[in-house]
Amino acid sequence: MNLAPTRIQLNRPLPPLTYLAPEGLPVGVRVRVKVRNSQAVGLAMGPEPEPPAAKLRPIEGVLDPFPLLPAKLRELHAFAARYYGCLEAHLLPLSLPQALLPHWEADEDGQRLSFHRERGAWGALADLGEAWHQDPSILPTLLHRTALRGSGFTEVRLTGAPHPPRVTPSQAKVLLILEDSGGALMEPELLESAGVGASVLGTLEKRGLVTRMKRVDLLGQRREAGVDRTVTLNQEQRLALEAVPMGTFGVHLLHGVTGSGKTEVYLALAERVLAAGRRVLWLVPEIGLTARLLDRLEARFPGRIAVGHAGLNVGEKQGDVVRLLFNGADLFVGVRNAVLAPLRDIGLIIVDEEHESSYKSEEHPRIHARDLAIKRAQLEGCPIVLGSATPSLESWQAARSGRYQLLQLRERPLGISLPRVEIVDLRDAYRQMRRKVILAPPLLKALTETLARGEQSLLLLNRRGYENFWMCRACGRTLGCPHCAISLTYHRGDFRLRCHLCGHETVPPEACPDCGADHLRGVGEGTEQVEEHLRQLFPGARILRLDRDTTRRRGSFEAGLLAAEQGEVDILVGTQMLAKGHNLPGLTLVGVINADQGLKVADFRAAEHTFQLLTQVAGRAGRADLPGRVILQTYSPEHPAIVHALAQDFEGFAASELPFREGLGYPPFTALSLYRAEADTPREAREALDGFRQRLSVPGLRVLGPLEAAVPRIRDQWRMHLLLKGTRGALSEVLARHPLDPTGPVSLDRDPVQFG
Ligand code: ADP
Ligand code: ZN
Repeated sequence: MNLAPTRIQLNRPLPPLTYLAPEGLPVGVRVRVKVRNSQAVGLAMGPEPEPPAAKLRPIEGVLDPFPLLPAKLRELHAFAARYYGCLEAHLLPLSLPQALLPHWEADEDGQRLSFHRERGAWGALADLGEAWHQDPSILPTLLHRTALRGSGFTEVRLTGAPHPPRVTPSQAKVLLILEDSGGALMEPELLESAGVGASVLGTLEKRGLVTRMKRVDLLGQRREAGVDRTVTLNQEQRLALEAVPMGTFGVHLLHGVTGSGKTEVYLALAERVLAAGRRVLWLVPEIGLTARLLDRLEARFPGRIAVGHAGLNVGEKQGDVVRLLFNGADLFVGVRNAVLAPLRDIGLIIVDEEHESSYKSEEHPRIHARDLAIKRAQLEGCPIVLGSATPSLESWQAARSGRYQLLQLRERPLGISLPRVEIVDLRDAYRQMRRKVILAPPLLKALTETLARGEQSLLLLNRRGYENFWMCRACGRTLGCPHCAISLTYHRGDFRLRCHLCGHETVPPEACPDCGADHLRGVGEGTEQVEEHLRQLFPGARILRLDRDTTRRRGSFEAGLLAAEQGEVDILVGTQMLAKGHNLPGLTLVGVINADQGLKVADFRAAEHTFQLLTQVAGRAGRADLPGRVILQTYSPEHPAIVHALAQDFEGFAASELPFREGLGYPPFTALSLYRAEADTPREAREALDGFRQRLSVPGLRVLGPLEAAVPRIRDQWRMHLLLKGTRGALSEVLARHPLDPTGPVSLDRDPVQFG
């Protein structure tokens, strides 16, 4: 076998390296290499035309017989790597679990893949790969894995491999039952109906006729509730449905308040696409909130759904990705990274709650799933529907300017009216009470009445912990994190002061570590304190706090919501995780303890995010026959974000906010690239950006900085920012002309969402 210098990318902050690899090795296959003295998985990127003079090491082994990802997905990777300034190898793990490795002993027509490898027949393997992508059943055991561990049910599926001439009667029974049930069944159910033992499945699995996979059971507790209740679309929904042409790329923005029936439109579109034999990629901001959606999907398209999200364990992830690679699932629901899932032949992409910032990754590679989804739809030549009650101003402006098609649902189908929203001016409350209060009299009164009626309330405060920080009244010092430039938050339950950025924690001191005075005082209430306050006010009430501190355990958030849904909770208190997506039938009062909280952040989207949060949480109040009421406590009742949240008027908010963005040259009127430097000293961080700034040679850019980041130090790293404003084209040119050294202190955050 001939070896040739080959470029290999590693999923590490390193430039591509050159190794000796088999000649003709296709771009996109994974290889194992040694870097210094450790093993690493790399991505073959083709021959290196100008190999370095030094002696090259050979690779340790080729892992994939051919690129496992479909060609269009590899195109998307290449685009994303160029756009976000990362390597394709950095994106690969988001598409394919590292541990998922093909079997070289898998055979096609009696020919083992390893046989081709020994002959160096990479071209033959690549051809086989193309054929496999058309019809995965020609290599049924390629990705075959038995006994995936983890929680959940085991699902048994037909692989689609051709029936062998002879099977035993019990094997035949299993195959027939699977056939009759659409190709897949849960293992216990299958064994029971076939009246056979598990060993039969083992044999069938060995013969490549069935696969067994662990399936996460997010629906677990409530699967039985999944009855398909097909609704008749109303006029507006039908118009929206008909306005989305199939089989051609187009971006459609579906705007409609919560409960206006957007999901029913997605479902109707998905149904058309699936009926046409193509697949659906369905992105959601957070999987924890989608149990009800999964119910609806599973009821509508039984056995055809796969789910992917960060909370899955390795085996589960592999299971569902294997199903995608095998064309085993036609509709893939997932969070951010699912935009890179190896789904083929996509006929529709849905991005629900498209404005959510969780679609943006805050770690390398800093992709934006909504934006990549649009690119993916373009590559696949299919429509994409972005849905929201409060669209991002980027999408809204694109729709106004005609780049996206705007579809609007203006009514709630069942004639439910929007909840009544009121404002409580905290300045008045302060004057009245002569002290700061957590619950001003109107909210307190409403809570009391709601409790008395046996209905549910939700209180939102977007800050966890007991007290926001501790301050010494004698010397004025606040107790800060030794590693980060922020103060520590007091958590009373565990009696700790804790850093919310790096996790550092300490037992609260009795006296000020600076001046020794014992005048330490907590400032600013958090959810923990609100909960305590409520328990004192309403000793008989069932109160549940949901925030990151109480929902650390996997599934605990869902369990909490479920309890609330079943009427076991009177008052829910928590952070913004409560604002989204769920529907509690008995919830009639929503109180926002401090509606201005998000307005003080140094972020040009502060007003937008506040408006979104308030509108979303308001949408939780009132369902079906119970009218809802929302009370916003605020110190700035005249702020546009508050005023328009009060009227629940997205278009009004957008109209007031857009001119401001345009005037200051912020998105959606320009694009942004945030260059972030992190170094051991502030000087190093600044110098790195100064150097970068001086070399910049692209016209038409506005450059701001270097400036200290909003949090200038995290985990002992000093942080500086350089912000570039310009067209997307100009910013791409900067990236092409001034590539970043992946080992250097500067990294790029394109289309930044968080400026902290
Ligand atoms: P959204 O996604 O905009 O929040 P949904 O699609 O979830 O709204 O609809 C809210 C509720 O109204 C759901 O229970 C849904 O089944 C119901 N619904 C939606 N459209 C119709 C319709 N045309 N007829 C009857 N019920 C509908
Ligand atoms: Zn810290």
